[in-house]
Amino acid sequence: MAARHCSELELLQFDDSFPADVRLNEPMSRHTTYRIGGPAHAYVEAQSVGALNTILRICRDENLAWCAVGKGSNLLVSDEGYDGVVIVLAGEFRNWRFDEEHCRVTVGAGTILSRLVQEVFHRGYSGMEFAVGTPGTVGGALRMNAGTRDDWIGNRVVSVTVMSPEKGLVRYAGEDIQWGYRSTSFLPNEIIVECELQLERALSGNINEKMRALLERRKASQPLNYPSCGSVFRNPEGHSAGALIEEVGLKGHTHGGAQISTKHANFIVNVDNATAEDVRQLIALAQSKVNERYGIELQTEVKFLGFED
Ligand SMILES: Cc1cc2nc3c(=O)[nH]c(=O)nc-3n(C[C@H](O)[C@H](O)[C@H](O)COP(=O)(O)OP(=O)(O)OC[C@H]3O[C@@H](n4cnc5c(N)ncnc54)[C@H](O)[C@@H]3O)c2cc1C
Repeated sequence: MAARHCSELELLQFDDSFPADVRLNEPMSRHTTYRIGGPAHAYVEAQSVGALNTILRICRDENLAWCAVGKGSNLLVSDEGYDGVVIVLAGEFRNWRFDEEHCRVTVGAGTILSRLVQEVFHRGYSGMEFAVGTPGTVGGALRMNAGTRDDWIGNRVVSVTVMSPEKGLVRYAGEDIQWGYRSTSFLPNEIIVECELQLERALSGNINEKMRALLERRKASQPLNYPSCGSVFRNPEGHSAGALIEEVGLKGHTHGGAQISTKHANFIVNVDNATAEDVRQLIALAQSKVNERYGIELQTEVKFLGFED
């Protein structure tokens, strides 16, 4: 009988000396704030640049699709899962160092954004208040240019280091990256690994006050008691996506276990074991109703993984 061939990735699962945690058939519902998503062929937490390099090399050799993921707070993964390798940055990608002289912080892309916000605040710097209460990682925030209506992370970026299978590590100056409303010019095959952010010295009372006000606004307007991905749609120029969806009468509308939130119509929440398909149906319904009534095509802010189209 012929011995079954084990792929290099499968073997890494059992290699304790390799600086990455490799799990096969990992349910992505464990790694998205929606708590939705079927299994990824492999889920890899890379702890070092060397490990990341090896994983990318294996993906190329074994012809496996891959995708960098942070905390899955802006991600809808299909019910069938993802037939590829989900790459998450851990270990050395979660470090930071402050440059007191230039008021800057260099931070790994796997760092949880809220931990950075707190650290910046405790050291008496201003500049990251806009991100208070935004879930996810620094890498996800950079990729999405996360922010509020008044400020976004791109405004703080001195440089970003990315890794791609073709070019290895490349450092971009902040001004060479295009930062738009929830959009950036990073390429799909670039994994953001580190960035340098410009901060300012400020009085901690002022920073605290600003963050408290932002958190209160968030609590008052967002359905934080249910799993979600935050805003599903980008606001069309001159409009609020939430207001448009409310105006076409969809606030509170449900499909399976998903609901267009009764609190904020740009949130689709997982109220009762929703599937990705439930969420997709509501997305399509909101898009068609708003288009029908106003001729506006709502564009999604949420990213999709494991879907055909
Ligand atoms: C309750 C709630 C409130 C939210 N509020 C806000 C808000 O106020 N403002 C806002 O902008 N967003 C908000 N969001 C959305 C989300 O938190 C942000 O988009 C966040 O920055 C995503 O980070 P993440 O690490 O979870 O990325 P993920 O959701 O894991 O990934 C998002 C995208 O980034 C890519 N990506 C992730 N990491 C990397 C990397 N290292 N290199 C390259 N690509 C990468 C992924 O492939 C994917 O395309 C909210 C979400 C929730 C659930």
